[in-house]
Amino acid sequence: MLVVQKYGGTSVGNLERIEAVAKRVAKSFDDGHQVVVVVSAMSGETNQLIEYANYFSGSPTPREVDMLLSSGERVTSSLLAIALNGMGYKSVSLSGGQAGILTNDSHTKARIEHIDRKCIEDKINQGNIVIVAGFQGVNERGDVTTLGRGGSDLSAVAIAGALQADICEIYTDVDGVYTTDPRIVKKAKKLDKISYDEMLELASVGAKVLQTRSVEMAKKLNVNLVTRSSFNDNEGTLITKEENIMEQPIVSGVALDRNQARVTLRGVVDKPGIAAEIFSTLAQKDINVDMIIQNVGHDGTTNMSFTVPENEFLATKEALEHIQPSKIIEFDDEIVKVSIVGVGMKSHSGVASEAFEVLARENINIEMISTSEIKISMVVHQKYGELAVRALHKAYELDK
Ligand code: ADP
Ligand code: ASP
Ligand code: MG
Repeated sequence: MLVVQKYGGTSVGNLERIEAVAKRVAKSFDDGHQVVVVVSAMSGETNQLIEYANYFSGSPTPREVDMLLSSGERVTSSLLAIALNGMGYKSVSLSGGQAGILTNDSHTKARIEHIDRKCIEDKINQGNIVIVAGFQGVNERGDVTTLGRGGSDLSAVAIAGALQADICEIYTDVDGVYTTDPRIVKKAKKLDKISYDEMLELASVGAKVLQTRSVEMAKKLNVNLVTRSSFNDNEGTLITKEENIMEQPIVSGVALDRNQARVTLRGVVDKPGIAAEIFSTLAQKDINVDMIIQNVGHDGTTNMSFTVPENEFLATKEALEHIQPSKIIEFDDEIVKVSIVGVGMKSHSGVASEAFEVLARENINIEMISTSEIKISMVVHQKYGELAVRALHKAYELDK
């Protein structure tokens, strides 16, 4: 088999951990597989590097940020190769660019446009265990780019897709995908299987066990994706096509997204083209807008609220200052988004009203609501986020 394994930050968090990963990788190789490994930076390293950059500037040059951040993954990839070499295995590390990962120009959240599979294949054919630095690529000018936070998952899935690997294993610090974040609810249950679509929704509403775009890519390229722990040998969670899952619960999981902020525009002129102007301005800045609510107009104006990722808050402020579409702009970063996800919602009614009742019983005020076919999201004050997750997890009997 051709196996792609990705090890996250905690899994390579120190030298002992890298040694343990080297042993795991070596075992797969000894079992007769061709192995490509993608690594994250040591846990905390990317945040540390961002802090360093912010010491010098409130808005560091994106190209330089990418040069800086990509270094974290280069450290772990070369160390892992060195560890394997020390154990007598033939192994080489490759930066994203050396691995043939070509991206667009969008520094700090670049999209993978193409992978030249020959780069990695040549190294495999020479008998190497290939270690690729995750989270990075190069643009067509050869400048280093990074793929957005959590982007090593995407590197792994994209490589697995390009090489048509038999399996892509995402090794992390939990046993797999749980019914909710096991750090919030101790009784959360590990799922044996989950559909691409449910995982996509869960990831997009805050379950950071897999990066959203990696799940999107896995679905598109039909990658056999498994998440499991690098700390034990327990079976993980298979992310697969919906038809491979017999039992379809109404609610499969609950997620909490703390990285949310709300923007409210009051006195927006109520005429054609205004929403287009506001949101195309934000789109041009690559700001990821979610949950848009516009009220019925009154006296020629209307109010509008929407959420953006908290770390894109400043960029949003700046962008809106240039268009000044309304008289009053309010910003609130003390909100979180709580969501329930499940394919069974498609065929059941009353799921939303039940969720609202659960929060009402806890006296939690719901400030915004949005729904999709398989998801219900509610914005609440940040102090109620975890309480809401626990209450919903219990109400839908996910701990049973
Ligand atoms: P890595 O560094 O390996 O990429 P991450 O920290 O990005 O790991 O993701 C793993 C973390 O995701 C877990 O420690 C857990 O707290 C969190 N998490 C949130 N929601 C879930 C969920 N539904 N199932 C499993 N883990 C979750
Ligand atoms: N090191 C990067 C991050 O912390 C990428 C990753 O770990 O997936 O976001
Ligand atoms: Mg991650």
